[in-house]
Amino acid sequence: MDPRANHMEATFRALRRLYPEDTTALGNRGEEPFPVLISTILSQRTRDEVTEEASRRLFARYSTPEAMARASPRDLERLIRPVGFYPTKARRLIEACHHLLERHGGRVPDTLEELLRVPGVGRKTANCVLVYGFGQEAIPVDTHVHRITNRLGWVKTRSPEETEMALARLVPRRHWLPLNHLFVQFGRDICRPIGPQCPRCPIAGCPSRRA
Ligand code: SF4
Repeated sequence: MDPRANHMEATFRALRRLYPEDTTALGNRGEEPFPVLISTILSQRTRDEVTEEASRRLFARYSTPEAMARASPRDLERLIRPVGFYPTKARRLIEACHHLLERHGGRVPDTLEELLRVPGVGRKTANCVLVYGFGQEAIPVDTHVHRITNRLGWVKTRSPEETEMALARLVPRRHWLPLNHLFVQFGRDICRPIGPQCPRCPIAGCPSRRA
Protein backbone atom coordinates (compact mmCIF):
# COMPACT_ATOMS: atom_id res chain seq x y z
CA MET A 1 0.00 0.00 0.00
CA ASP A 2 1.23 3.52 -0.80
CA PRO A 3 2.43 4.97 2.55
CA ARG A 4 0.67 8.23 1.63
CA ALA A 5 -2.72 6.46 1.66
CA ASN A 6 -3.04 6.36 5.46
CA HIS A 7 -1.90 9.94 5.76
CA MET A 8 -4.46 10.96 3.17
CA GLU A 9 -7.31 9.25 5.01
CA ALA A 10 -6.29 10.85 8.31
CA THR A 11 -6.00 14.25 6.62
CA PHE A 12 -9.48 14.08 5.08
CA ARG A 13 -10.91 13.00 8.45
CA ALA A 14 -9.21 15.98 10.13
CA LEU A 15 -10.42 18.43 7.49
CA ARG A 16 -13.98 17.12 7.62
CA ARG A 17 -13.95 17.58 11.41
CA LEU A 18 -12.61 21.10 10.96
CA TYR A 19 -15.18 21.99 8.27
CA PRO A 20 -18.18 19.78 9.03
CA GLU A 21 -20.50 21.35 6.45
CA ASP A 22 -21.99 18.48 4.44
CA THR A 23 -19.76 18.64 1.41
CA THR A 24 -21.37 15.56 -0.12
CA ALA A 25 -24.13 17.94 -1.19
CA LEU A 26 -21.74 19.91 -3.38
CA GLY A 27 -23.07 20.24 -6.87
CA ASN A 28 -26.60 20.00 -5.51
CA ARG A 29 -26.49 23.07 -3.36
CA GLY A 30 -28.20 25.38 -5.80
CA GLU A 31 -25.17 26.58 -7.71
CA GLU A 32 -26.01 26.86 -11.37
CA PRO A 33 -23.28 25.94 -13.84
CA PHE A 34 -23.37 29.32 -15.63
CA PRO A 35 -22.53 31.49 -12.57
CA VAL A 36 -19.92 28.94 -11.50
CA LEU A 37 -18.32 29.14 -14.95
CA ILE A 38 -18.28 32.93 -15.08
CA SER A 39 -17.11 33.44 -11.47
CA THR A 40 -14.31 30.95 -11.91
CA ILE A 41 -13.08 32.72 -15.05
CA LEU A 42 -13.12 35.97 -13.06
CA SER A 43 -11.28 34.38 -10.13
CA GLN A 44 -8.08 33.64 -12.04
CA ARG A 45 -5.26 35.63 -10.40
CA THR A 46 -7.74 37.56 -8.29
CA ARG A 47 -8.48 37.58 -4.57
CA ASP A 48 -11.69 35.83 -3.49
CA GLU A 49 -13.33 38.96 -2.04
CA VAL A 50 -12.67 40.89 -5.25
CA THR A 51 -14.09 38.06 -7.37
CA GLU A 52 -17.22 37.83 -5.23
CA GLU A 53 -17.94 41.56 -5.49
CA ALA A 54 -17.30 41.63 -9.23
CA SER A 55 -19.53 38.58 -9.78
CA ARG A 56 -22.34 40.21 -7.83
CA ARG A 57 -22.15 43.40 -9.91
CA LEU A 58 -21.94 41.45 -13.14
CA PHE A 59 -24.86 39.09 -12.50
CA ALA A 60 -27.07 41.90 -11.25
CA ARG A 61 -26.89 43.31 -14.79
CA TYR A 62 -26.23 40.28 -17.02
CA SER A 63 -27.51 37.00 -15.59
CA THR A 64 -27.77 34.82 -18.71
CA PRO A 65 -25.46 33.88 -21.60
CA GLU A 66 -27.84 35.67 -24.00
CA ALA A 67 -27.61 38.94 -22.11
CA MET A 68 -23.85 38.71 -21.51
CA ALA A 69 -23.14 37.90 -25.17
CA ARG A 70 -24.81 41.18 -26.19
CA ALA A 71 -22.96 43.29 -23.60
CA SER A 72 -20.30 45.75 -24.68
CA PRO A 73 -16.76 44.90 -23.57
CA ARG A 74 -16.49 48.36 -22.02
CA ASP A 75 -19.53 47.82 -19.80
CA LEU A 76 -18.25 44.43 -18.67
CA GLU A 77 -14.85 45.95 -17.91
CA ARG A 78 -16.52 48.59 -15.77
CA LEU A 79 -18.49 45.96 -13.84
CA ILE A 80 -15.71 43.45 -13.20
CA ARG A 81 -12.89 45.89 -12.47
CA PRO A 82 -10.59 45.49 -10.49
CA VAL A 83 -10.28 41.72 -11.12
CA GLY A 84 -6.90 40.76 -12.59
CA PHE A 85 -6.62 41.23 -16.38
CA TYR A 86 -10.14 42.63 -16.50
CA PRO A 87 -9.99 43.93 -20.11
CA THR A 88 -8.98 40.48 -21.39
CA LYS A 89 -11.50 38.74 -19.17
CA ALA A 90 -14.31 41.03 -20.36
CA ARG A 91 -13.64 39.94 -23.94
CA ARG A 92 -13.32 36.27 -22.91
CA LEU A 93 -16.68 36.37 -21.12
CA ILE A 94 -18.39 37.62 -24.26
CA GLU A 95 -16.63 35.00 -26.41
CA ALA A 96 -17.52 32.29 -23.91
CA CYS A 97 -21.20 33.28 -24.00
CA HIS A 98 -21.22 33.30 -27.82
CA HIS A 99 -19.67 29.83 -27.74
CA LEU A 100 -22.36 28.54 -25.32
CA LEU A 101 -25.11 29.98 -27.52
CA GLU A 102 -23.69 28.75 -30.83
CA ARG A 103 -22.51 25.28 -29.75
CA HIS A 104 -24.65 24.33 -26.76
CA GLY A 105 -27.97 26.13 -27.10
CA GLY A 106 -27.06 28.54 -24.30
CA ARG A 107 -26.27 25.78 -21.78
CA VAL A 108 -22.97 25.03 -20.07
CA PRO A 109 -21.61 21.67 -21.25
CA ASP A 110 -20.97 18.98 -18.64
CA THR A 111 -17.88 17.23 -19.96
CA LEU A 112 -14.25 18.20 -19.47
CA GLU A 113 -13.52 18.01 -23.20
CA GLU A 114 -16.35 20.37 -24.15
CA LEU A 115 -15.64 22.75 -21.29
CA LEU A 116 -12.01 23.07 -22.35
CA ARG A 117 -13.18 24.37 -25.74
CA VAL A 118 -15.01 27.31 -24.15
CA PRO A 119 -12.91 30.51 -24.52
CA GLY A 120 -11.19 31.47 -21.27
CA VAL A 121 -11.61 28.02 -19.73
CA GLY A 122 -8.59 26.05 -18.53
CA ARG A 123 -8.48 22.85 -16.51
CA LYS A 124 -9.10 24.46 -13.13
CA THR A 125 -12.19 26.29 -14.33
CA ALA A 126 -13.51 23.25 -16.17
CA ASN A 127 -13.05 21.04 -13.11
CA CYS A 128 -14.70 23.67 -10.85
CA VAL A 129 -17.75 23.68 -13.14
CA LEU A 130 -17.91 19.87 -13.01
CA VAL A 131 -17.69 19.77 -9.19
CA TYR A 132 -19.66 22.85 -8.14
CA GLY A 133 -22.05 23.16 -11.07
CA PHE A 134 -22.78 19.51 -11.87
CA GLY A 135 -21.72 17.54 -8.78
CA GLN A 136 -19.33 15.38 -10.80
CA GLU A 137 -16.16 13.88 -9.37
CA ALA A 138 -13.21 15.99 -10.53
CA ILE A 139 -10.19 17.66 -8.92
CA PRO A 140 -10.00 21.43 -9.40
CA VAL A 141 -6.44 22.40 -8.54
CA ASP A 142 -6.15 26.02 -7.55
CA THR A 143 -3.30 27.70 -5.72
CA HIS A 144 -4.45 26.28 -2.34
CA VAL A 145 -4.70 22.67 -3.48
CA HIS A 146 -1.36 22.92 -5.30
CA ARG A 147 0.49 24.49 -2.35
CA ILE A 148 -0.97 22.32 0.42
CA THR A 149 -0.61 18.95 -1.27
CA ASN A 150 3.04 19.80 -1.96
CA ARG A 151 3.58 20.88 1.66
CA LEU A 152 1.99 17.65 2.84
CA GLY A 153 4.42 15.71 0.65
CA TRP A 154 1.65 13.97 -1.30
CA VAL A 155 3.01 15.35 -4.55
CA LYS A 156 6.20 17.02 -5.74
CA THR A 157 4.96 19.13 -8.61
CA ARG A 158 5.68 22.47 -10.20
CA SER A 159 2.35 23.30 -11.82
CA PRO A 160 -1.33 22.87 -10.95
CA GLU A 161 -1.76 20.66 -14.03
CA GLU A 162 0.96 18.27 -12.80
CA THR A 163 -0.68 18.30 -9.36
CA GLU A 164 -4.06 17.41 -10.82
CA MET A 165 -2.64 14.44 -12.69
CA ALA A 166 -0.68 13.24 -9.64
CA LEU A 167 -3.68 13.61 -7.30
CA ALA A 168 -5.96 11.80 -9.74
CA ARG A 169 -3.62 8.80 -9.46
CA LEU A 170 -3.25 9.05 -5.68
CA VAL A 171 -6.50 10.20 -4.11
CA PRO A 172 -9.43 7.75 -3.92
CA ARG A 173 -12.41 8.99 -5.95
CA ARG A 174 -14.65 9.25 -2.89
CA HIS A 175 -12.57 12.27 -1.78
CA TRP A 176 -12.59 14.12 -5.12
CA LEU A 177 -15.87 15.96 -4.73
CA PRO A 178 -15.11 17.67 -1.39
CA LEU A 179 -11.34 18.00 -1.93
CA ASN A 180 -11.27 21.51 -3.41
CA HIS A 181 -13.81 22.89 -0.97
CA LEU A 182 -11.93 21.52 2.07
CA PHE A 183 -8.49 22.61 0.91
CA VAL A 184 -9.60 26.11 -0.07
CA GLN A 185 -11.03 26.72 3.41
CA PHE A 186 -7.98 25.18 5.06
CA GLY A 187 -5.66 27.26 2.85
CA ARG A 188 -7.39 30.49 3.80
CA ASP A 189 -7.62 29.73 7.52
CA ILE A 190 -4.56 27.74 8.50
CA CYS A 191 -2.17 26.57 5.79
CA ARG A 192 -1.85 30.08 4.40
CA PRO A 193 0.53 30.89 1.55
CA ILE A 194 2.67 33.06 3.80
CA GLY A 195 2.85 32.28 7.50
CA PRO A 196 1.09 28.90 7.77
CA GLN A 197 -0.47 28.48 11.20
CA CYS A 198 1.27 25.19 12.02
CA PRO A 199 0.75 25.32 15.81
CA ARG A 200 -3.05 25.39 15.16
CA CYS A 201 -2.97 22.75 12.44
CA PRO A 202 -4.76 19.46 13.17
CA ILE A 203 -2.95 17.47 10.45
CA ALA A 204 -0.35 15.13 11.93
CA GLY A 205 2.76 14.01 10.11
CA CYS A 206 3.20 17.05 7.85
CA PRO A 207 6.83 17.22 6.69
CA SER A 208 6.59 21.02 6.31
CA ARG A 209 5.43 21.70 9.86
CA ARG A 210 7.05 24.73 11.45
CA ALA A 211 7.26 25.22 15.21
S1 SF4 B 1 1.57 21.61 9.53
FE1 SF4 B 1 1.77 23.69 8.67
S2 SF4 B 1 2.54 23.40 6.58
FE2 SF4 B 1 1.73 21.41 7.28
S3 SF4 B 1 -0.40 21.37 6.55
FE3 SF4 B 1 -0.44 22.18 8.64
S4 SF4 B 1 -0.34 24.42 8.41
FE4 SF4 B 1 0.29 23.50 6.45
